[in-house]
Amino acid sequence: MSSPNDKPGEACGVFGIRVSHAEAARLTYFGLFALQHRGQESAGIAVSDGTTQTVYKNTGLVAQVFTEPSLAALTGHLAIGHTRYSTTGSSNWANAQPIYREVNGNGISLSHNGNLINTAELAAQYGQLFATTDSELMAEAIAHEMRINDVGLVAALQTVLPSFQGAFTLTILDNTTVVGVRDPMGFRPLSLGKLGDGWVLASETAALDIIGATFFRDVEPGEMVVLASDGLRSYRPFEASEHRLCLFEFVYFARPDSMLNGSNVHATRRRMGEHLAEQAPAEADITVPVPESGIPAAQGYAARSGIPIVDGLIKNRYVGRTFIDPAQSMRDRGIHMKLNPLRQELAGKRVALIDDSIVRGSTTRQLISMIRDAGAIEVHLRISSPPYRWPCFYGMDTGDRSSLLAAGKTVDEIATYLDVDSLGYLELDRLIDATQLPTDSFCTACLSGDYPTPVPLNDPKFILETID
Ligand code: SF4
Repeated sequence: MSSPNDKPGEACGVFGIRVSHAEAARLTYFGLFALQHRGQESAGIAVSDGTTQTVYKNTGLVAQVFTEPSLAALTGHLAIGHTRYSTTGSSNWANAQPIYREVNGNGISLSHNGNLINTAELAAQYGQLFATTDSELMAEAIAHEMRINDVGLVAALQTVLPSFQGAFTLTILDNTTVVGVRDPMGFRPLSLGKLGDGWVLASETAALDIIGATFFRDVEPGEMVVLASDGLRSYRPFEASEHRLCLFEFVYFARPDSMLNGSNVHATRRRMGEHLAEQAPAEADITVPVPESGIPAAQGYAARSGIPIVDGLIKNRYVGRTFIDPAQSMRDRGIHMKLNPLRQELAGKRVALIDDSIVRGSTTRQLISMIRDAGAIEVHLRISSPPYRWPCFYGMDTGDRSSLLAAGKTVDEIATYLDVDSLGYLELDRLIDATQLPTDSFCTACLSGDYPTPVPLNDPKFILETID
């Protein structure tokens, strides 16, 4: 599935909660709303009242999947939730999460954000029955361990988790417990919050804010936290590892009002724009953000360069991921349905156009053409991250190398393809500097080619063909 606006597909959002009343599912619903940007293909909640577990999930946005009657039926004090963007497996109902397995008269449900890199090994070890995704494979492996050794969820996880390799942030529910897991490198975020005498797990801190929980701490890479009836327990089932949070969470994926490793995402994006203005100045009359993801960087760019920021592109706020792509004959109108140029601001101007990233490029090319048609006399494109040249194996849908605009191209060649008067990308060290976090705390693979784990080099994702 392609992504609009030349962005990679988001990662998925996970949520988990233990409270002392029966409204855990309703709070999960609100939490999933806050995580909607991480996945729009399906949404689901699994809830337990201590003895019985119920899972409700479907394709669509959170607001489409759940109704007042369906939520009212989901009673219990324990719940997990998921918003999905498919990175493996097809995007259909069967792949919606949480995934449920019946085990020894108990039930386990699992929500996953990430992507495993050793699925072939795991499939051989545990069998592929009922597993078309890496997430299902994990649920199968956990259930298998519980069955054959007649152990509970926490014991099974301690045995099975070390066999998983790659990116996996998980929330897992059995009839009496909620568990949160972050893989040893911590590719994807997971935060822990306090709500009254209860506990909350969420992919991003913004989801804690929205339900009135207070941020307690991040779940650490390699940590498993158990929200048990007698309080919070922490386990370390993995060998120690270097930490590699996805740098793209700061660039594009995470909400601006979330905190990652203690750094605010919006403030970081502003700093990226400030760095960009220093590193790649433009002779321009106005700074124009590509809404909405380019706005914070454009604010920083304008503030540092002194070039005033104006709303030169108006976004149709009702066009989201459920937008039905127009038929081929109307496809070049697609960008107009999402963004419309404000001719009054653009005509006769030299434009510094700011966006956070370009993955495939075709939408950006149309956008430049549209801005020129609206009367701009020059377009200087500035991107607040380095060229995106390598595919992601850790849970982002970026497509194959052949579909990445910058793969195998120089910056000048990219500028020619996009038809801009000049093009500047933010350097990697400046991008990391903007996060105010240590350089070695990040995965930068899609920007640097430096993969923190072995990756399948024979994967079709690596094949680089000529882009037309
Ligand atoms: S490859 Fe890129 S998108 Fe994937 S985890 Fe690493 S930084 Fe994030």
